Amino acid sequence: MTDTLDLPHLRGGGAMGALMRSHDWSGTALGPPQSWPLSLKTAASLILRAQQPMFIGWGPDCISLYNDGYIGILGDKHPDALGRPMAEVWGEIWDALRPLNEAVLRGESLSFENMPFQLAGRPTPGPHYFSFTYTALLDDDGEVAGIFCVATETTATVNLADNALAARAAQQALAESEERLRLATEASEIAFWDLNLRDNSLIWQPRLRTMFGITTDEALSLDDFFAGLHPDDRTRVARAFAAACDPARRELYNIEYRAVGRDDGRVRWIAAKGKGLFDAGGGCVRATGTAMDVTSRKTTELALEMALEASHTGTFHWDIQDNHLTWDDALDRLFGLRPGEAVRSLDQFIALVHTDDRAEVIRRCERCRDTGDDFEMEFRVIYPDGSVHWLYDRGRTFLDPTGRAKTMTGACVDITTYVHTREALRLADRQKDDFLATLAHELRNPLAPLRTGLHLLQNIQGSLPPPAERVLGIMQRQLDHMVRLVDDLLDIARIRQGKILLRQDALSLQLVLEQALEGVQTLLDARGHRVTMEAVDPALQVTGDATRLVQVVGNLLNNAAKYTPRGGSVTLRGGAASEPGMLLIEVADTGIGIPSDMLEHVFDRFVQVHQHIDHVQGGLGIGLSVVKDLVEMHGGRVAAESAGPGAGSLFRVWLPRAAAPLSVGPASPARAGTSERLRVLVVDDNRDAAETMAMVLELGGHEVLLAHDGAAAVALVERHDPAVVFLDIGMPGLNGYETAALLRALPGASSLLLVALTGWGSEADQARSLAAGFDLHLTKPVDIEAVRRVLAAVRPGVERACV
Ligand code: ADP
Repeated sequence: MTDTLDLPHLRGGGAMGALMRSHDWSGTALGPPQSWPLSLKTAASLILRAQQPMFIGWGPDCISLYNDGYIGILGDKHPDALGRPMAEVWGEIWDALRPLNEAVLRGESLSFENMPFQLAGRPTPGPHYFSFTYTALLDDDGEVAGIFCVATETTATVNLADNALAARAAQQALAESEERLRLATEASEIAFWDLNLRDNSLIWQPRLRTMFGITTDEALSLDDFFAGLHPDDRTRVARAFAAACDPARRELYNIEYRAVGRDDGRVRWIAAKGKGLFDAGGGCVRATGTAMDVTSRKTTELALEMALEASHTGTFHWDIQDNHLTWDDALDRLFGLRPGEAVRSLDQFIALVHTDDRAEVIRRCERCRDTGDDFEMEFRVIYPDGSVHWLYDRGRTFLDPTGRAKTMTGACVDITTYVHTREALRLADRQKDDFLATLAHELRNPLAPLRTGLHLLQNIQGSLPPPAERVLGIMQRQLDHMVRLVDDLLDIARIRQGKILLRQDALSLQLVLEQALEGVQTLLDARGHRVTMEAVDPALQVTGDATRLVQVVGNLLNNAAKYTPRGGSVTLRGGAASEPGMLLIEVADTGIGIPSDMLEHVFDRFVQVHQHIDHVQGGLGIGLSVVKDLVEMHGGRVAAESAGPGAGSLFRVWLPRAAAPLSVGPASPARAGTSERLRVLVVDDNRDAAETMAMVLELGGHEVLLAHDGAAAVALVERHDPAVVFLDIGMPGLNGYETAALLRALPGASSLLLVALTGWGSEADQARSLAAGFDLHLTKPVDIEAVRRVLAAVRPGVERACV
């Protein structure tokens, strides 16, 4: 041991002073303390006297010296740290310390606050915080020879601050979560309640007070709660509450009840939930829970219930995956079941369905189950008393997360009366169509002699005074108009009856338009309209029935002529539509136009624009519906446009374009032929019709025989061997078909040209007469030109079917 007398600089200094004095310094770079440079001795004596933790690192290796205050910082590195190089003492943090040391040895002074270090050998885990200064120590020659460190450990302070921060953050989080809860309860309109069962005091959030119509904030008790309940619900609530507070049952309090507002008298529906809280002894001390105003939901439910009841609607729920069916009492009644006869599965339900509808019901149920489709169907059920009832059933299918059908909820309503009414309406509609068809047909019969008679009168040239000529002209125009009306009527009836068969020919669009225009030209001219038909590409073809398409465009042109004041303009256009595969026909006029709210309806049957009554030129409101039906039967569509009253109208027709080469054009205008004198038999039970027809034929230079029934016709043919027979179909006794069969059976009848002359003009009627042995079928009132064409093509003695 070194004597303190020899070592005045190591005198005192507490434990470290003693340790430094007794330390064997000979093994260190410092050597014995007596030989230390004066500057080191001074520094050593300084730290030994100081209270604050101080440390010296001397020499190139920074040999460690420290005082008592510093022992705590070193932890279990003390006492070995004394006299050892700093790099060894602070091995675990040397990477952080070395740059500091180097900086100080270069002469810098450093200072740090709350610097964290992860120190080994400490009783508590890091980080450990220090505030310290690093200063250079000079040797006796004034050169930097070591570092001098004054350090304070601040771990406790830093941790304290951290804890305070954490506490503040926690407080903040708590406040935020409370706020979130508040917002959530506000949005969901939930209110909390808390009942102390020891004194029956009740804590209610303000919202709960509102639900009970309490406008004050006085203290409340359980009695206030019960007093606020609707008398009808009080017993039920009391029972549920008792079950929740009963230590033996401890049931969840979950109930909906009505409250009658104490101060406002309003009745509100409340949904409440809660539970009892029990003490160690098992007694219920508190009950807490939530309450929510569900008045609006209850009102809706009630309204729905009333609606279902009033409309006799039953509802069901089908758990598809478990094949479990539940339905309400109303549905029981709709299936004719008595109370207690519950249906629980799909099979039970299907067994109640009428056998004729069962397969389809099963098919649709399976489709809902397999594809998740909704259910919608009308079907019949048979009641136990055997009566048949119609039901309309609609179900919505809900899927599980894997996309499989899980449940179906639906409703069912009795539509028996509706179905019967619908059937009756359909029947009435059919009867009306039949009536219209018969009416039109019957109107044609008297028109036939009128038309033929007029034709005759017009051909008695020179013998009529001029006023009679004018009258004849008027009669001819009126008669043509009437024929058109009757034709339209017959067409609409036949379209409705599905009796129109269309040809599917490739037709020249240009020819269709030209022929339609030709048919309406007289009317257009009579009304002084300027008519323009824009050039149509002759290569464009439309697929369809020539007669019908000419009729479509003709009707549109006819309307344009009618609904355009005298001297207007009518334009007809045809070309390729922008839509691929379609052609577009346009008929535009400068007429009275169509109000926008009527544009869609003018194509409906019997619809006429009210505002046009003054302009009505006679019509039944069926021309456009014939147009629409015929165009749609061709696979096309129609549309009307107009900027409004007085702004003219534009009708558009889209039709499928024909790809095939042109095969047929519309029938070319009749070529008047001169016929040879023929012997012709006219057979018609309508004497006027027969006679006028005979007169026309005689005027044409033919020899005419008349018969008014089938038997007479057969006798005349046998005796006189006519070249042509015009034979009415609808006759009493032998009808036209039967007469035709007899005529065809006569020897030498092969050269006889047999022409059916009838009011029935449908394709089916024509087919029937050809099958019965007729060569041709003409529809009354017959067009005289057509008769002429027929006769012009006949030469006596030549085989028939050459027309
Ligand atoms: P109508 O026999 O009355 O002409 P339509 O079915 O042909 O029957 O037409 C129905 C209604 O549509 C007509 O009554 C008329 O009011 C209106 N309408 C048809 N075409 C035109 C048009 N070009 N301009 C103005 N209104 C028209």
